[in-house]
Formats: sequence, C-alpha cells, structure tokens
Amino acid sequence: MRNFEFFEPETIEEASDLLTKYNGTAELLAGGTDLIIEMKARTATPEHVISLEKVPGLTGIDYDEESGLRIGALTKMRRLENDPIIRERYTALAEGAGEVGGVQIRNLATIGGNISHGSPAADTAAPLLALSAQVKIAGADGERTVPIETFFVGPGQTVLKTGEIVTAFECPARSANQGSQYIKQKIREVMDLAFVGVASSATTDNGAVSNVKIGLSAVAPTPLRATDAEAIVNGNSLTTELLQQAAAAASAQSSPISDLRCSAEHRREMVGVLTRRTLQAAVDRAQG
Ligand SMILES: Cc1cc2nc3c(=O)[nH]c(=O)nc-3n(C[C@H](O)[C@H](O)[C@H](O)COP(=O)(O)OP(=O)(O)OC[C@H]3O[C@@H](n4cnc5c(N)ncnc54)[C@H](O)[C@@H]3O)c2cc1C
Repeated sequence: MRNFEFFEPETIEEASDLLTKYNGTAELLAGGTDLIIEMKARTATPEHVISLEKVPGLTGIDYDEESGLRIGALTKMRRLENDPIIRERYTALAEGAGEVGGVQIRNLATIGGNISHGSPAADTAAPLLALSAQVKIAGADGERTVPIETFFVGPGQTVLKTGEIVTAFECPARSANQGSQYIKQKIREVMDLAFVGVASSATTDNGAVSNVKIGLSAVAPTPLRATDAEAIVNGNSLTTELLQQAAAAASAQSSPISDLRCSAEHRREMVGVLTRRTLQAAVDRAQG
C-alpha cells in the first residue's frame, strides 16, 4: 500500500472541502471493506484518505409513520440486518444487508460505502430500488436528493460530483399490507458476490397488487428497475400467467454479460426465476 495523508474531519463541510481541495487524489473512508482491499491491491492509490468516522449524524436508523425511514450513510450492514423495523417493514433491505460478505465484513461495511462504490452487484442496491429509496447528498453547494434509480451511472460510477458525500437514504413509510423480498444467487454459499440479485416490493389491497417495484443487480452495467415487469403486475391480481409475463419482461430488460462465474443466458434466465419468486413472496408477506 502506498503512503497517504489521513484526515479525520469533524463536520460534513470540512470533509467536503477536503474532497474538493484534493480532487482526484482523495478517497473517502467509511468501513474500508472496499477501499482498503483496493489500496492493498494498488487498484486504488489515493494520496489523501478522508475518514467519515468523526462526522456526526451519519449513523443510525430512524422511523416515523409519517415521514418514513432514514438510514445514515455510515450505518453498518450488521445493524441493518438486525434492526426490527427494517426486518418487519423493509424486509428486502434486511435480507440484502445480511448477504454482504461474512459477519466480520458486515460489522464494518456501511450502506453508504456499498452504494457509493457503484458496483452493479451491490447487495443493498436492488432492495433500495424496490423500496423507493432517495439518496441524500451533501456538498459545497448544499444538499440535494436523488432517487436511487438515477444514482448509478455505470460500473463504479455514480452521480456524485466533486466534493459530494452521501449522507443518508430515505424510504417512504410502509404499512402492514406491504411486503418485500431480496434473493441473491451466488456461486459459493458463503462470502460471494451476487451473479444475480432481485428484490421485489408490493402493496396488496382486496386482492389487487399495487406499488410494485422490482430492483435488479449484477445483470446490467448498473443496478436497475424492471419497470416493464412492474407495469404488467401493477393494479392486477397476481396469477401464474401474470407472474410468467412479469418474469419474461424483467429478463428482457436485463442486459447481463458472460464472465467466469456465469453465462449471460443463465443470468437472464435467473432474473425471470427470481422475479417470479420475489414478487410472489412480496405479495405473500404483504398479506401476512
Ligand atoms: C471479503 C469481502 C466480501 C464482500 N462481500 C460482499 C457482498 O457479498 N456483497 C456486497 O454488496 N459487497 C461485498 N463486499 C464489498 C463491501 O464490503 C461493500 O461494498 C461495503 O458495503 C462497502 O462499504 P464500506 O463502508 O466498507 O466502504 P469503503 O470501503 O469505506 O468505501 C467504498 C467506496 O465508497 C466511497 N464512500 C464510502 N462512503 C461514502 C459516502 N458516504 N459518500 C460518498 N462516497 C463514499 C469510498 O470513498 C470508496 O470509494 C465484500 C468485501 C469483502 C472484502
């Protein structure tokens, strides 16, 4: 690992100013489970490392029946996985967080780092897409909010501009007649990245399914929503035929690659299978 200058700013403004000052040679440090690995491998060689550890207000989970859920960017996967409100109301996110690495990794890894790293296979990306998350961002020009579906630009690339820091994620409040599920397909049972990840969320009311959101990861250059499949299901009762149509639409909207772990064809097929399974589970969970 090459030498670097280490900073521990105590405000978000200070952190943003440092990022701007050292633009191009600085990296933010959250849990370090991506960054430190890359620095050791020398695929990242920052001259300045800016820790977010001492910046107040970046950790924690708050839920309000009116305003919904707020998760600080520095909140650890382990906390998300075990939080009672996340498990009950935002189940897909608890499942996604619980899929990241092993327990030791999840004790360090943050949700902000997982999303800001911009990996198409990030395990919290598909759940956040399905749960209509908004990303809160702070920078020199103040704060802005972007929907999670517009946050990812390409592999390893996000909408973050010079000096910008993700501060939190917000999701709308959820009621008892809403359900969600995330399923990850991986080659090895333990500690492996997804080769396909699908999260679905739905609301049920007198048999009709609404507010359907489907998030896909690891099957395109960025995590994405399967909007065509959502449109097929929204407003209808869930039948076997409808599930099959939605599965086919989600597969068609994915654009996976073949690599050492899996062929594009298998990934596309699994998008359909997991769309069917997660949609059915989301509706079952919504119905209690
Ligand atoms: C053994 C192992 C197994 C893993 N398994 C998985 C897995 O199964 N699924 C999965 O999704 N990931 C996995 N990962 C990757 C990693 O653990 C996650 O992506 C993790 O959530 C990253 O968070 P972090 O806090 O450690 O980020 P860091 O490493 O601290 O940061 C990652 C990147 O994001 C930037 N960043 C961090 N926080 C912010 C912020 N608030 N605003 C703007 N930029 C920010 C940093 O500058 C850096 O470029 C694994 C990693 C290891 C080492």
